[in-house]
Amino acid sequence: MDTLAADFADRFGSDPDGIWAAPGRVNLIGEHTDYNDGFVLPIALPHLTRAAVALRPDGRIRLASLQAPDGFDGAAPTPGSVPGWSRYVAGVGWAFGEAGHRVPGLDVLIDSNVPVGAGLSSSAALECSVALALSDGLGLALSRAELAHLAQRAENDFAGVPTGLLDQTASLGCTAEHALFLDVRSGAVEQVPFDVRRNGLALLVINTLAHHDLADGQYAARRKSCEEAARRLGVPFLRDATLDDLGRLDGELLQRARHIVTENQRVLDVVDLLHQGAVAGIGPLLTASHASLRDDYEVSCAELDAAVDAALRAGALGARMTGGGFGGSAIALVPVGSVSLVEDAVADAFSKKGFRAPECFTVEAGPGAHRQHV
Ligand code: ADP
Ligand code: MG
Repeated sequence: MDTLAADFADRFGSDPDGIWAAPGRVNLIGEHTDYNDGFVLPIALPHLTRAAVALRPDGRIRLASLQAPDGFDGAAPTPGSVPGWSRYVAGVGWAFGEAGHRVPGLDVLIDSNVPVGAGLSSSAALECSVALALSDGLGLALSRAELAHLAQRAENDFAGVPTGLLDQTASLGCTAEHALFLDVRSGAVEQVPFDVRRNGLALLVINTLAHHDLADGQYAARRKSCEEAARRLGVPFLRDATLDDLGRLDGELLQRARHIVTENQRVLDVVDLLHQGAVAGIGPLLTASHASLRDDYEVSCAELDAAVDAALRAGALGARMTGGGFGGSAIALVPVGSVSLVEDAVADAFSKKGFRAPECFTVEAGPGAHRQHV
């Protein structure tokens, strides 16, 4: 028996209906573009959050995690009423209810190896594992796009964390050996081949372990700036702005808008290169994305810049911060033979600057959320 199923039975007194798994993600490129109706290109990490789940008939909801001490035991939770991590899971049940899919009651036990708070979307992995479990358990067969919207609703409107659709779409929609190209406006997704190993490359994730408290406030401020820039340009979203339009902006709004406009184009260029099989060719676009996030969008930080600079100096073909910024993780595209050199260079740079030693690991694009047969 799967040890998670055994833990579930120990804790709740009966077997789970099943175990559902959903991955964390890294965004290859397309940062802060999702809430501008633009383009993103994530891959699923091999790291998974697993949810052992049983529906129950009596309205009671019990939530527990092997990674977190507190849980939840109650009924009919409403936004704001659930503290801590449980709100991400309770929020999924609530979002299903809001969409007309009543959840009768629920026992959930979570286990995960997705790094938490590292910009790798452990929160989406948590939501999406439970969303898929509910869809299967209630016999709803909801589409991946519908599930992503329900999971996003849980995070935005129940957990109270304003995020775009990138994380949930990635966790639910990615497939192994591919990056997922999402046009947030149309919801259209395309699987784009991304097999680093076959190209003699590795994708290195550098978790800086840094987390700067300004992240939340600055995220909200960036969203506001983008809305304001779009308003001044007379377009619905910055997705609709062109480089020529930017001449009508100045100062901070110009910088913010220039990042979004150029970043959307970089996503399209990377997708083209990947379709041509030119994986190594995307390196300079990754690095240009970092420069834009650092200089125009101003969401990088000393640790992320140090990781990117050291990786590039040690032979990475491209490197950038990934995720919202102000800490979290960077990625570097590295020739397989140079992986340890790059890891050592990053560790060395961190130590010289007095930063905590980062955690580095290579990843290949893994599968999206799925039921596990146990
Ligand atoms: P990220 O999504 O980048 O990892 P977030 O701050 O968005 O960072 O989400 C992290 C939060 O998600 C944690 O603080 C916790 O509340 C919740 N979480 C993620 N994974 C787990 C887990 N395995 N068990 C309990 N809570 C988790
Ligand atoms: Mg998150």
